[in-house]
Amino acid sequence: MSHFLDRLTYFRRTQEKFSDGHGITTDEARDWEDAYRKRWAADKIVRSTHGVNCTGSCSWKIYVKGGIVTWETQQTDYPRTRPDLPNHEPRGCPRGASYSWYLYSGTRIKYPLVRARLVRHWREARKTMTPVAAWKSIVQDTEKRRDWVSKRGRGGFVRVGWDEVTELIAAANAYTIKEYGPDRVAGFSPIPAMSMISYAAGSRYLSLIGGNLLSFYDWYCDLPPSSPQTWGEQTDVPESADWYNAGFLLVWGSNIPMTRAPDAHFYSEVRYRGAKSVVIAPDYNEAAKFSDMWLHPKQGTDAALALALGHVVLREFHIDRQVEYFEGTLGNTQTFRCS
Ligand code: SF4
Repeated sequence: MSHFLDRLTYFRRTQEKFSDGHGITTDEARDWEDAYRKRWAADKIVRSTHGVNCTGSCSWKIYVKGGIVTWETQQTDYPRTRPDLPNHEPRGCPRGASYSWYLYSGTRIKYPLVRARLVRHWREARKTMTPVAAWKSIVQDTEKRRDWVSKRGRGGFVRVGWDEVTELIAAANAYTIKEYGPDRVAGFSPIPAMSMISYAAGSRYLSLIGGNLLSFYDWYCDLPPSSPQTWGEQTDVPESADWYNAGFLLVWGSNIPMTRAPDAHFYSEVRYRGAKSVVIAPDYNEAAKFSDMWLHPKQGTDAALALALGHVVLREFHIDRQVEYFEGTLGNTQTFRCS
C-alpha cells in the first residue's frame, strides 16, 4: 500500500501485538525508508582526513557515491604504539564528522574574490597600461586608493578569474619590490602538516623573490608564544599520547576535549594512573571538569597571572636562593600545543 493510502486508512490499520502488547507490527508502506538507504549508500570507501587547519590528521573511512562524499566514519585500524599506552583510536571530532557538508557547502569559496571598487580601477587602468604601471597608477593616486581601502571590512567582493587576479597580485608584488625592496613583501603559506604542496609553493615563491616568509601561525593567530620563547623552537613538541606519561598536567589556553577532541582521551585516561591536573580557564569549560583544581581568573587577566607565577618562581627559587630542583629539573618539563 502507498503511504498516501496508509494515511487515509490510519485508524483501520492491521496491527499485531507481541511481547505482551509492548510491541506492534503493522502493514504500512515502508518505501519512504529507501530515501534514507540511498542517503547513506556508497559505491566505494576510501581513506582520508580533513585538510583544514587541523593537525589532528585523524584517519577516516570516506563513503563515496557517484564521486560525491556521502558520509564518513572513523577508522579503527590504528597500530598500537606501545603496549602500556592506550589506543589512539577511534580518533575524530564532531567538526570532522560533518566535514563532507562543509565540502559541498554553498558558502565555501572556490574562486578568487576581489573588492569590486579595486577591480573597477584595475580594469580601467589595464586598458592602457602594463600591469605594474597600472597598479602603480592606482596605489599612488590617493583618491583611488582611498576609494577601496576605506571600504575594508564591509564586504563588496566580486568573483574574478584566476588569470586576472594572478596578474594583479604579481603586479602588486613587482611594484612593491621595485619601490621599496623585496623584504617589504611578507606572506605565509598554509600549514605544512596538512597541505605540503600549498605550503611549499608559497614558501618557495616568497623565498625566491626575497620576501619575508611568515609562519602560518601568524595567519591563524593561534601561536602559543610562551612555547618558542621558552624553548627556542616553534612548538615542535611531543605528541598528545605523551600526556599519558605525565604525573602533573597544567592545562592553560586550551580546552582539550573541545579543541583537541581526538586526543582528549589520553588526558582523562592518565588520571586513572594518578596524574593530577590544574586547569586555568575563566569559564567552567569541558577541560575544567577533569581538573583537581580549577583556577578561573577574570577574562583577560591571564597574562598578569602568568607573570605573577613566574615572578614567584624566579624570586623564591632562583634569585633569593638557588634551589637544586629548579636548576636541575626544568628541562624535564614539556609543553604541548593542543589548540
Ligand atoms: S580532529 Fe576533527 S577535523 Fe581534525 S582531522 Fe580529526 S576528525 Fe578531522
